[in-house]
Amino acid sequence: MHSLQVTGPGEVDWVEVPEPELADARGALVRPLTVATCDFDHLIVAGRAPVPYPVQIGHEVVGEVVAVGDDVAGVSPGDRVVVPFQISCGGCAQCGRGRTSCCEAVPWLSCYGLGLAAGDWGGAIADLLAVPYADAMLVPLPAGLAPAVAAAAGCNITDAYRCVAPQLAEMPGAPVLVAADGFQNIGLISVVLAAALGAERIDVVGLGAPAAGKAAELGARVLDSLDDVEPGAYPITVDASLNEEMLVAALRGTAPGGVCTISAMYPQPPDSFPLLELFAACATVQTGQPHVRGEIDDVLRLLEAGAVRTDLLVDETLPWESAAAAYAAGGGRKVAISRQEG
Ligand SMILES: [Zn+2]
Ligand SMILES: [Zn+2]
Repeated sequence: MHSLQVTGPGEVDWVEVPEPELADARGALVRPLTVATCDFDHLIVAGRAPVPYPVQIGHEVVGEVVAVGDDVAGVSPGDRVVVPFQISCGGCAQCGRGRTSCCEAVPWLSCYGLGLAAGDWGGAIADLLAVPYADAMLVPLPAGLAPAVAAAAGCNITDAYRCVAPQLAEMPGAPVLVAADGFQNIGLISVVLAAALGAERIDVVGLGAPAAGKAAELGARVLDSLDDVEPGAYPITVDASLNEEMLVAALRGTAPGGVCTISAMYPQPPDSFPLLELFAACATVQTGQPHVRGEIDDVLRLLEAGAVRTDLLVDETLPWESAAAAYAAGGGRKVAISRQEG
């Protein structure tokens, strides 16, 4: 079958790979229909991701179930589903706590579309995707949601959700700071969700076009420089920057008792990591992948409820045949590749 592969920086090509098969009676095969690009895809194509080439690309997926194993009860061929990007079994202790990115049944970081470092699960810009734990992993596509938006809920939107939603539920109306440089989509989506969930003030630094314009449209203040980040002013801070200076600004911006979520991954802490200031502020710093399967039901419910500006989440939907050019183009835009729309 055809699969889109990144072989080196800026090199994206269709290749022929073996068709996946049903793993066992709990598995399903899904034909990807709409796949959204992710911030991490852009890093892979740019040669900035800590994963070796080649990478079968694509991991924010809405597809159609085409085959299921004998033990699968929750989905049937023909069903449209959202596929979370992480493999999770639904039955281990971590999955039971909703911490599905730490699933104990599969190797650490088992994901679609992130290359062999994440296991040999394949990429979603392909004719078929094997889903090993179909009943646990697959989520019915909500009728009222655009496939491009639902696909993005399989990674970026849920990532942004965990950065702001539980915090705003605990601290209603609290001011939010979003630092976004390398992860433009997660940065913008954090702003979109924070606005929908009632943050009384949203400051954002590091967003480029077109995301900065969208953030401003929602009433966010687009700061000109890190000097404008007020230390200790934000109970909720988000680092989606991959930029050490911005990370430090977000940490310093966290208010006493606040929560800073580091969505970007760093090989090591910056020299100026303000550990003493964070201690003094009794701040919580959390990092790691989002637990997509554990949170996606809440995310889809929120998106369906109508308060979120879902029209701001995806910049453009392109035909499937243009996937190679779309991924090679890189940049901060969020694009969906669809077999159905053009
Ligand atoms: Zn992603
Ligand atoms: Zn598990």
